[in-house]
Amino acid sequence: MSDNHFKVIIIGTGPAGYTAAIYAARADLKPLVFEGDQPGGQLTITTDVENYPGFSHGIMGPELMKEFREQAVRFGTEIRAETVTGVDFSGSPHKVLTSKGRYTGDTVIIASGARALLLDLPGEKKLMGYGVSACATCDGFFFRGKKIAIIGGGDSAMEEANFLTKFAEKVTVVHRRDTLRASKIMQKRALDNPKIEFMWNTTVVDVLGEPETGIKALRLKSAVDGKEWEWPIQGLFLAIGHMPNTEFLQGQVKMDENGYIVTVPGTTKTSVEGVFAAGDVQDHVYRQAVTAAGTGCMAAIEAERYLESRHASH
Ligand code: NAP
Repeated sequence: MSDNHFKVIIIGTGPAGYTAAIYAARADLKPLVFEGDQPGGQLTITTDVENYPGFSHGIMGPELMKEFREQAVRFGTEIRAETVTGVDFSGSPHKVLTSKGRYTGDTVIIASGARALLLDLPGEKKLMGYGVSACATCDGFFFRGKKIAIIGGGDSAMEEANFLTKFAEKVTVVHRRDTLRASKIMQKRALDNPKIEFMWNTTVVDVLGEPETGIKALRLKSAVDGKEWEWPIQGLFLAIGHMPNTEFLQGQVKMDENGYIVTVPGTTKTSVEGVFAAGDVQDHVYRQAVTAAGTGCMAAIEAERYLESRHASH
């Protein structure tokens, strides 16, 4: 086999990818990991992680991911700073194409994660990190005493609105309809919170401001009569859902209607033999670092068993 052939190729370096790497490396499978364009994954844009077991006083997201990485490297994982652009799972071994080369793997573990959806407003990208955020837990702290808006009507929006009231003076949930999608209990918590108010049937047309001075206002539009107006505000949080990072897999593995990889229940097996999926790329329900790590461990064990069974049958 060529220098570019590996027993296990892992795509992604969040908790799922690194945990799969730790287990595969300890099984002496010498895994190759592709880092992708957000090394360390979503936790690297988080501050305090207080619910990862084993850290009773919490740990910073980037610090936690540095530990994951060092642990994977310690057991012989090879990590390359390349982004996977395509795969070909039609034969054996599986082919993986990156920004820099072509590789083959007897098994592939997909742990490419998910990302927050944005609104595509003209001013959104410019002000991201300067008043616009898609992560309340990461950035809420910076909005102490401020007036902020949160967009969305799902569980995330309710949960984050409640969380943000720890810091903000007033949190307004701006929702495009007049009913919430969130579960009843999450709705009730938000509706009962005196620091949260609701703006119904309203969409955001633009966010106004400059990086140097932050957000000045939102340009809003009524979904009822189409009227537009400017509304002064200091922070904009987006909670309109997530999208799995599966674009590079089109047509190669079974996905659901939202693009999440479908796995055989209770396993990380995908529709393709020897291809496994772990973490947020196959989970839109739990989306936690610890569950991602758990499924990363499962994927490595299943990949090892698959390789053993193939070896036994040859
Ligand atoms: P979600 O349930 O898909 O809700 C997204 C919300 O954003 C919806 O209210 C939607 O409006 C709105 N939205 C989407 N695109 C928009 C746009 N372009 N402009 C304006 N509004 C837009 O997403 P989520 O809240 O992130 O939840 C995802 C999953 O995780 C759900 O299954 C949820 O139950 C789960 N979750 C659970 C918890 C918990 O139980 N603790 C916490 C967070 C998330 P419409 O309603 O009009 O479609």
